Amino acid sequence: MSRDKHKPSTRAGHLGRAPEKFLGAVNTPVFRASTMLFPSVEKLEQAARGEYEGIGYGLHGLPTVTDLQDAVAAIEGAHAALAVPSGLTATTLPLLALMKAGDHILVTDAVYGPTRRFCNNHLTRLGIEVSYYDPLAGASIERDFRPNTRIVFTESPGSLTFCVQDIRAIAEVAHGRGAVVVTDNSWATPFGFRSFHHGVDVSVHAATKYIGGHSDVLSGLILANEATYPALHRLWTDIGVTASPDDCFLALRGFRTLPLRLARHTASALEIAQWLKARPEVREVIYPALPGSRGHELWKRDFIGASGLFAVVLQPVAKARIDALLDGMQLFGMGWSWGGFESLIIPIYPERVQTATKWNPGGPCLRLAVGLEDPDDLIADLAQGFTKLAG
Ligand SMILES: *Cc1c(COP(=O)(O)O)cnc(C)c1O
Repeated sequence: MSRDKHKPSTRAGHLGRAPEKFLGAVNTPVFRASTMLFPSVEKLEQAARGEYEGIGYGLHGLPTVTDLQDAVAAIEGAHAALAVPSGLTATTLPLLALMKAGDHILVTDAVYGPTRRFCNNHLTRLGIEVSYYDPLAGASIERDFRPNTRIVFTESPGSLTFCVQDIRAIAEVAHGRGAVVVTDNSWATPFGFRSFHHGVDVSVHAATKYIGGHSDVLSGLILANEATYPALHRLWTDIGVTASPDDCFLALRGFRTLPLRLARHTASALEIAQWLKARPEVREVIYPALPGSRGHELWKRDFIGASGLFAVVLQPVAKARIDALLDGMQLFGMGWSWGGFESLIIPIYPERVQTATKWNPGGPCLRLAVGLEDPDDLIADLAQGFTKLAG
C-alpha cells in the first residue's frame, strides 16, 4: 500500500498504520501501556535475553510510537527513526550518542538557539570541543576541521537567517575526514528535503512544528542511516527517553495532511513574500523558495519542497514603530514557535547570537510564519500593520 512507487502524499496516508491489527480502525489508536504481561516463564526469560518478539515493557515499541517512526523514516529515506518528547531532545541526543570526551563538533552559526545553548553549556562540560562555522562555507569548511572533528551539525535553511547550506559539499568533506553529518531538517520536513540522498547521516526534526501542525503537541524525531542508528538506539534506550503514545498519535495525525498543508503554506508564503518585496518599507525578503532571494539557487538544486517560514528585512526604522506594527497585528500572533495553522510574526536578532559570522542585512528583521488563513486576509493585515509602522 505504501511502496516507493506511490507519490509522497499517497504514502503519507498509507504508511504507519495497520487497520487489521486494531479491529479495522483506520488509525492506530493511542496505545497506552507500561507493564506488559508475559504468558510464561519461558517468554519472560526470552525478554530478559533480548530475544522476545513481543513488547517487553511500555517504554519502547508501543505501536502508536513505532508507526510514527516508521512512516517518517520511510518518507525521508532513513534506515529507522526514534521518537522523543521534543525537538530539542532530537537535536541534542545524537550529539551525546555519537561523541566522547576529546572529540570536536563543528556547528553551523545559524543553528537553532537552544541547540547552541546545549553545546555551550553541556558538551563543553563533558570535555567536547565546540566551534561554530560560516553556514555558507560549503567545501571550504575543510579549513575548520580539526583532527578530532567527529560531527558537523547543519541546519538548512538556518533558524533565523534562512541561509541555505551546501550540504552535499559539506558531507563530502566530513566523510573524507571520518566525521558524520547531522542536520536539523525541521523547516523543510521529510517531504521537502530528502536529507539521506544528500549525504546526511542523522536528520532531526522538531515534529512540534510542521509535522504536528496544530500548535498542540511537543514532539521530536531522530532519523538515522544504518551506520549511526545502533549508537542512537543504544542511548535512547539507556536514557529511557521515548515519546508518549498520545503525542505520537497527534504527530502521526498531523503527518497525514502534511503534504497538503505544506503546499498551502508555501503558496501563501510565496504570494505574501512577493507582495512584501514590492513594498517601500521592505529592504529584502529572505525566503529560499522565492526566486531572486538569497539561497534560492541552492534551494532549487537540493530541495523538493518548502514551507511557510521566512524573514523580512525592513528599511531602517525606530524600534517604537516596529513595536506599533507588531502590537497592532490582528491575524498574525506573536509566539516563538511555527508550523501551525495560525500565522505568526516576531522580531528577530541573529546578530545577538552568531559568533562566527557577522549578520548585517541593513535593517531590522522580522520572521513570519505564514499559516493556513486566506493569503488575501493576511496581506490586508500586513498592510494595516505598515500604516502603524508609518505612525
Ligand atoms: C522549535 C525547534 C526545535 C525544537 O523543538 P521543540 O519541540 O520546541 O523542542 C529544534 N529545531 C528547530 C529548527 C526549531 O525551530
